[in-house]
Amino acid sequence: MLIINGTILTFGNDKRVLPDHAVYYENDTIVDIGRTADLVQKYPMAERLDANGKIVMPGMICAHTHFYGAFARGMAIPGQPPANFLEILERLWWNLDRALTLEDSKYSALVCLVEAIRHGTTTLIDHHASPTHIDGSLDVLAEAVLESGLRVGLCYEVTDRNGTQGTADGIRENVRFIKRLQAKPNPKLGASFGLHASLTVGDHTLEDCVESARGLNCGFHLHGAEDKADQVDSLKKYDQRVIERLEDKKILGPKTLIAHAVHLDAYEMGALHNSQTKVSHQPRSNMNNAVGLAEIEKMLDKGITVGLGNDGFSNNMFSEIHTAYLVHRLSKGDPRVMPADRLLDMAFNHNGTIANIYFPKPVGHLAPGALADIILLDYVPFTPLTDGNYPWHVVFGIDGSHVTHTICGGQMLMRDRQLLTLDETAIAAKAKELAKAMWNRIN
Ligand SMILES: [Zn+2]
Repeated sequence: MLIINGTILTFGNDKRVLPDHAVYYENDTIVDIGRTADLVQKYPMAERLDANGKIVMPGMICAHTHFYGAFARGMAIPGQPPANFLEILERLWWNLDRALTLEDSKYSALVCLVEAIRHGTTTLIDHHASPTHIDGSLDVLAEAVLESGLRVGLCYEVTDRNGTQGTADGIRENVRFIKRLQAKPNPKLGASFGLHASLTVGDHTLEDCVESARGLNCGFHLHGAEDKADQVDSLKKYDQRVIERLEDKKILGPKTLIAHAVHLDAYEMGALHNSQTKVSHQPRSNMNNAVGLAEIEKMLDKGITVGLGNDGFSNNMFSEIHTAYLVHRLSKGDPRVMPADRLLDMAFNHNGTIANIYFPKPVGHLAPGALADIILLDYVPFTPLTDGNYPWHVVFGIDGSHVTHTICGGQMLMRDRQLLTLDETAIAAKAKELAKAMWNRIN
């Protein structure tokens, strides 16, 4: 496929804005980028897509999400509103996840995948929980992912909050699914070993998980120090801070991804850096749960890989970028913090590194050899758009609503805003029916 007449934003290390350019890809990989006139001559037989001056850029990456939470949208929680993070977990999420059937899990994933394609998010890292139906739940999600054509890394969150059987089932589901993908790999599916969070996983379970993951060549994906309550719990039960405990139990490492990392001390940041553990930042969720704001720039200064996720918020990663851009300034009372270019480095380069835990090929930039994850946007800049200023166009002007075409691994998933792999209307109708039934089971 040859995409011609685009204004290409390459991202990656080059960070170029290339008007009147073309991208040529074969199968799932970009082969060439050059002036439209040159590539039309070079690849005369290629199928063409005329971008007509639209923005052509890499697909967005979401480093941490929860498909399973989709049916929470608009759901009422009986009684007084939850007063803190633990109450939010107990009264919303832990009631919702226990009510999920396998069909609910599948449709929760499908509605998220529709939203992701619409907003140009092509790679997502999911963290799943459905404690009443654990066995096979990752297969059901994988089925939805393959129907959509997007690329997703999956795991099941092991926790002790559903008894010893629930813990054992969660461990087994991770191991089974990791082995399934190792036996029969699929370029659109990845796997890691999921854990909920320090505060719901005892020492014995942590040791069991490390033992079960031995030889599987995988990392862990878990929430860490999201709220102060996680630190309070860890200090009280184990006399260790959260990251210190995870380091001690051998959970940290280059393939491990810690979501949030809001409440860290200097030692914990050092431990994340030394172990090359990855972090994902979800400011919309942190604001919504009122848990605080992570010291993202301190982590970046240290050299920690910090990506951007959505924690189950809309799969429009442009919204996460816009929020991140604003909230750090407000929080610090300093308009110099978290400049747009640094933020986009997180959303593309660092997220690309995190995606590489699951998927080996380069992602998050447009260059020969990178995955053909490409989106087209009908954003029409009314000020100059240059190599030096495009990050500020992204934070102040460009949004997921501008996305007209979404291509993942060379597969066209949306063309001129028409979804090609998923039937949005049918999926929404079925999801609405399932969500209503699920709400009735909870209340
Ligand atoms: Zn999360």
